[in-house]
Amino acid sequence: MGKRRIDKAIKIATEAHEGQFRKSGDPYIVHPLAVMKILEDWHMDENTIIAGVLHDTVEDTKLTLKDIEAEFGEDVARLVDGVTKLGKVRSGMKDIDTYLPQTRDNLLRLLIATGSDIRVLIIKLADRLHNLRTLSALPPDKQKKIAKESLEVFAPLADRLNMGRLRVEMSDIAFSYVNPKRYNELKELIEERNRSAEKTLLKIKAEVSELLESEGIKFELSGRIKSVYSLHKKLAKYDQNIDAIYDLTAMRVIVDDITTCYLVLGLIHSLYTPMAGRIKDYIAMPKQNGYQSIHTTVITKDKKIIEFQIRTREMHDYAEHGLAASFYYNEQKLTESYKQGKIQHLPTNLLWIMELQQAASQLRAGKKVDLNKLKLNLFSDKIFVYTPKGDIVDLPNGSLPLDFAYRLHSEIGERVTGVKINGKMSSLNTKLQHGDVVEILTGKAQTAKPTWFEKIITPHARNKLKQQLGRASEIIPKMTPPKPKK
Ligand code: MN
Repeated sequence: MGKRRIDKAIKIATEAHEGQFRKSGDPYIVHPLAVMKILEDWHMDENTIIAGVLHDTVEDTKLTLKDIEAEFGEDVARLVDGVTKLGKVRSGMKDIDTYLPQTRDNLLRLLIATGSDIRVLIIKLADRLHNLRTLSALPPDKQKKIAKESLEVFAPLADRLNMGRLRVEMSDIAFSYVNPKRYNELKELIEERNRSAEKTLLKIKAEVSELLESEGIKFELSGRIKSVYSLHKKLAKYDQNIDAIYDLTAMRVIVDDITTCYLVLGLIHSLYTPMAGRIKDYIAMPKQNGYQSIHTTVITKDKKIIEFQIRTREMHDYAEHGLAASFYYNEQKLTESYKQGKIQHLPTNLLWIMELQQAASQLRAGKKVDLNKLKLNLFSDKIFVYTPKGDIVDLPNGSLPLDFAYRLHSEIGERVTGVKINGKMSSLNTKLQHGDVVEILTGKAQTAKPTWFEKIITPHARNKLKQQLGRASEIIPKMTPPKPKK
């Protein structure tokens, strides 16, 4: 039954996309089929897989939502509609302006815009993953744009859904286009370090295996290699000092149950010296996205530093596949209860997703929701602020109005005369808060001046301002104050 519905979807999509081609020269249908395959690998439910096959038909072919509903039912039609809307998320955002300032969360906004169904976002993530895998066929400017957006929006989204494997693949491909030179440098660095650590790792593996076996513990032990992009981010945090990064290579121990996790932790500590302050118990206290594992960094007898990650099989699957894994673990049950809006079948560490979906649908229905009760603190090093039209701009925490203005456009930046935050006139020294609606007031003339350097924290704004002041002093040297000297 299931296979037949999927086959039918493939047939209909193939006919609908007939005569259309990808930039690579492939027939268009290659793309929806690849998206289907990804969703199958993630063990998504049948309707999600069918919607994946059909996801581009409403936008790009003569097929309508009505056709899809008639053939595959309301659930599939809603999913396809959601993906189509997500493609036009800007216009979708306008529609939800009415929910401001209640909706401060990016994911929540996406959920409202797409009809409150997280599966829409999962289809979108599969779509984006295939587009990234085939990015080389596009012209360079498009490559950069898609890659950048993937780093800023989609990889964090995957992280938020605890889809670790997806996050790593997306961010590494995207980073290789955004900054190819750096990507290659770091990739080589990681490979080189791993080569030189190979012997040590083998020795550690043998020692740990022997100990665990002697205790009669069933386990899987493997090395995990840090992804290029996460190393890049971590180096930025540690002044580019690679020796300060202890989890470049880590060992992963997967066992049957939670009690054994703690037992293994104790055994490893009896073998090697744990480093102070480097034991993190994400089993007792899961990360916000539901990630669970015990991490500990130890010093071996040869004075080598290595991180261990200890978790159960189920925790491991969640860490790799996140929300998608829950569809796998609860397969039919979840899909059924999901449709009825029941939430009891989701594991507790992922309940927030259901809460978020419920909040989105209540907001959509015009009801008030106490969002403080939800765990919404996404992207903690970033804030999201909004233009009066509802477009989202993400900035580093601590950004000021001029950072925002330069981010919108350098020509807006150089003509700033004032700022309204949440409708109130405010000073250019005001720190922007997550969820603020920021309106930049501009005049016709250039107003940029050297004192603005104190009202800016982002490198982008700083560089633009530097350029503009340099340019102005060339044209009208007398009217411009001297450049600040350090
Ligand atoms: Mn697509």
